[in-house]
Amino acid sequence: MWSKKGEKGRVWIGRAPFRADLLESVQVFAAKENIKCARVEVIGAVERAVIGYYNQDKRVYEEIEFNEHLEILSCLGNLSLRDGEPAAHLHVTLGDRQGNLKGGHLQKGTVVFAGEFVIEEIIGPELFREHDQETDLPLWRKDG
Ligand code: ZN
Repeated sequence: MWSKKGEKGRVWIGRAPFRADLLESVQVFAAKENIKCARVEVIGAVERAVIGYYNQDKRVYEEIEFNEHLEILSCLGNLSLRDGEPAAHLHVTLGDRQGNLKGGHLQKGTVVFAGEFVIEEIIGPELFREHDQETDLPLWRKDG
């Protein structure tokens, strides 16, 4: 196990634009505010969702699409840099009309109906995503 020590920096609370792509809206906001490292949370609702399930045997994300209106019960994750740009890694728990849960790795294609976010900047650690050979995932490099 390894970690990097940081301190709380700036904190934002706000809304994602109506019908914006949820993942992209977080990344666009981070680029605009020059956020290099942060924790992210979002609650609200989406008109449709695309989530990923990482198939560990095949080493690929399998996409799952939901063309229905869903609540964002919880969307948690982080921001760090990948190829010099803020990259959001978010996992989402969604609730349907019957109260059933769906969830996974947030992908592009998830359309915001309403989204309230909190972003807490973490100052100090430099975290960069890079291809990890063991998992085939873009994970944080230890010596970043
Ligand atoms: Zn993930």
